[in-house]
Amino acid sequence: MIGGDNCTRACPFCQIHNGRPEGYDTDEPRRVAHAIARMGLNFAVITGVARDDLDDGGAWLFAESIRQVRALLPSCGVEVLIPDFRGSAAALRQVVDATPDVLGHNIETVPRLYKRIRPGFTYAGSLELLARARAWLPTGSATKSNLILGMGEERGEISETMRHLREAGVELLTITQYLQPSRQHLNLQRFVTPEEFAELKAEAEGLGFAHVESGPLVRSSYHAGRMHEALHPGTLDRRARIAAAAVLALALAGWLGWRGFELFDPGRNLSAARAVVSAPNVITHQLPALATAPGASGTLQSRPHQWLSVITLHGLAPVSGRERYLVFLHGYSGWTLAGAARPAPDGSAQVRFAAEPRPVSIYEVFVTRAADDATSIPHGTPVLHWFDPVHAPPRVRPFDPAHPAP
Ligand code: SF4
Repeated sequence: MIGGDNCTRACPFCQIHNGRPEGYDTDEPRRVAHAIARMGLNFAVITGVARDDLDDGGAWLFAESIRQVRALLPSCGVEVLIPDFRGSAAALRQVVDATPDVLGHNIETVPRLYKRIRPGFTYAGSLELLARARAWLPTGSATKSNLILGMGEERGEISETMRHLREAGVELLTITQYLQPSRQHLNLQRFVTPEEFAELKAEAEGLGFAHVESGPLVRSSYHAGRMHEALHPGTLDRRARIAAAAVLALALAGWLGWRGFELFDPGRNLSAARAVVSAPNVITHQLPALATAPGASGTLQSRPHQWLSVITLHGLAPVSGRERYLVFLHGYSGWTLAGAARPAPDGSAQVRFAAEPRPVSIYEVFVTRAADDATSIPHGTPVLHWFDPVHAPPRVRPFDPAHPAP
């Protein structure tokens, strides 16, 4: 769930805290993508609070989260569950243009109960959002909604709402049981029987929904990947095949890279590092300039799949004879590589890293000045910090050995 802990709406059935949101974390989408990578998901559902305090209602956060997941994990499916952005077509367009695999917006209840149960929303507005999304999304993407039962709706009203959703082009539907989170929340009116859930599923399928999940413990993200798969059969299999092919390709490239490394770089010294830099197939990332360290710049060069990396720095301040620069690379799966160099008189330095013999990727680069014999960086030392040299802008933060990654 993105956008913070506080929602600017106050739906009486919902347990999310409502109040004034604190801050706007534009780095959150990148961290969401990394969290999905760490969990090894092949389909992720990203939901969020309503952010009426923001001009775009939080649309950029959703759109950027989709883009970050796509960039980091091209084979991972992405579903977003969005609020109504107060009816803003431009905000919705932002999310649609990021092309989620599934765009969800929950209607939640029937029109008669809307004012009480969805006070910040309108029934017509939610249907309009879903219809617009269907019209704007490519055919490979689906729209989805959710209905919560047990809040006072009549059976005929449920059927009518399902019809309206189909008329808006919604393809995927979840039907769920309301469970009252506390005495302060909306009163539960009834428990729906499993038989009625089964009947509603059959009715919804008869209306033309491509996939319906209906049951007391169903939630809107329940079997999300499978629901999308139902609309586009073979997608998950295809993704699994792509992932398997990628693993094989990485293993092969890694083996070739390692053999190459052994052949041309046995000495682990500076001239060998220069050989790596000039070798073919080297990927170069320019480290962006740091406002807090004027003049400092650098490049990160990696052999394919980062089996071997070289950091070249320029504009480093001179150090005394008893000092040097320490450079750290941090990787997605928690590894850290460390190196050290003393800058040449022109302020340049080069540090090379022999990564572990497995495919790795780098998400941040630390550079800090330290005593020659330092074996660790004192807590709070300011560092030049190129965060995610490939995807994100640079930052500076004090080094915290307990939390090398923010
Ligand atoms: S908008 Fe969504 S998160 Fe916010 S209170 Fe309503 S249901 Fe909960």
